[in-house]
This record gives sequence, structure tokens and C-alpha cells, in this order.
Amino acid sequence: MEPDVKAVAVEHIIAQLNRPDLQIYDAQYGGLLDTSASVLVVTSVATYDVRLVQASPRWRVTQVNPSQPGAPTSAPSSAATALLASSRVSLPAAAAADVRSGQVHDSVLNVLLELAKEHELAVSVVRSGHPIDVFGTTRPSDHPRGRAVDVWRIDGNAVVNPATPTALVDNLMRRAAALGSYNVGGPRQLSGPQFFSDRTHHDHVHMGFTT
Ligand SMILES: [Zn+2]
Repeated sequence: MEPDVKAVAVEHIIAQLNRPDLQIYDAQYGGLLDTSASVLVVTSVATYDVRLVQASPRWRVTQVNPSQPGAPTSAPSSAATALLASSRVSLPAAAAADVRSGQVHDSVLNVLLELAKEHELAVSVVRSGHPIDVFGTTRPSDHPRGRAVDVWRIDGNAVVNPATPTALVDNLMRRAAALGSYNVGGPRQLSGPQFFSDRTHHDHVHMGFTT
């Protein structure tokens, strides 16, 4: 792993925005390959997909794509309204705007509401601020289609923290699959056709839906 890559991305956003009120909630991999990466810097202002390439002595930022959640819908679904009102699910600015836009499928919203009965969850990314394609591929990601969500913290425990109980993360992944996610990614490979793990998913749980 390249811990410095995230630091470079976060420092770049802090310098670029230059706002004393800026809060950084999380820096999550949108993709991590040997010589290139996407780091999603989740802030109180927006979420930034920061692209980097390997360089010496530190990786170098090549591009920043800010989240563009779109305007709020005048007719939010009941699931969207319930999720926005939930004190059990933390939604950063871009994710909340995604939910308000009406462009996130109810499958995503309903599973978050179900999981929130059992856990306090912190969401990093829903729709906007995520790469359009799965990083390093030409395969469209479920995120921009409003059919996926990433969770970076469960009951106050960051997924990336080695001190976080593995069962807490693994059981959330299993619950997400049981509730209908067809594609659940996380730090460890679980047995079952729904599950995957790779370098990108050591710092969050991904849940994707077909509809
Ligand atoms: Zn994801």
C-alpha cells in the first residue's frame, strides 16, 4: 500500500480550496494501481476525485474532478426523505446532495436504512465524486448510475483501521448481500458469488445494486 498517496491528495485539495472552514472527513481510494491512483477526498464542501501518478519523491496530482450532484428533485422518494433524516447514517455534502437529487436508486437507500437499524454508518461516496468507470478499466461503475454506495466507518470504527474487528466489517458485507446487493467489496475476500476484494477496497465497503 502507498499511505503517502492519500496525504498528497488531501494536501492538494486543502491548498487548492484554501478555506479555513474546510473539513476533511475521509480520503478513500477510488482506485489503486501500481503507478496510478484515484483518491476520493470527502470534504464538507464537496467530494474530489483526485488522480495521481507515481513520481519521486512523492506521487503527483494530475487531475481533480469535483462532485457534481445536480439540483434537488421536487419529489424525493420516501426512502430518500427517511435517509436524509436519519441520525444513524452520516452523509457528507456530496452524498446528501446525491440523495436530494433523486438520482440514487431506492435499492441503495433502503439497504442503508436497513443496515442503520443495526449500525451507525458513515458514507463516503454515493453517486457524484466517483470515477465514471471502475478505475483502470472501461467498465462503467455502478456509482455514477446511482446504484452503489461506499461505507468507510461502522459504529465509529474505520474500515481501514487495523484495530477494527474484522467480524464487524465482514458481517456488514454479508448483511448487505443478504439484503440484495449483488456486488459487495471489502478488505477481505468472503466466500460467495457476491463478494470481491482488491487493493482499492481495503478502506471501505462497496455495495452495488442491479436496479
Ligand atoms: Zn464503491
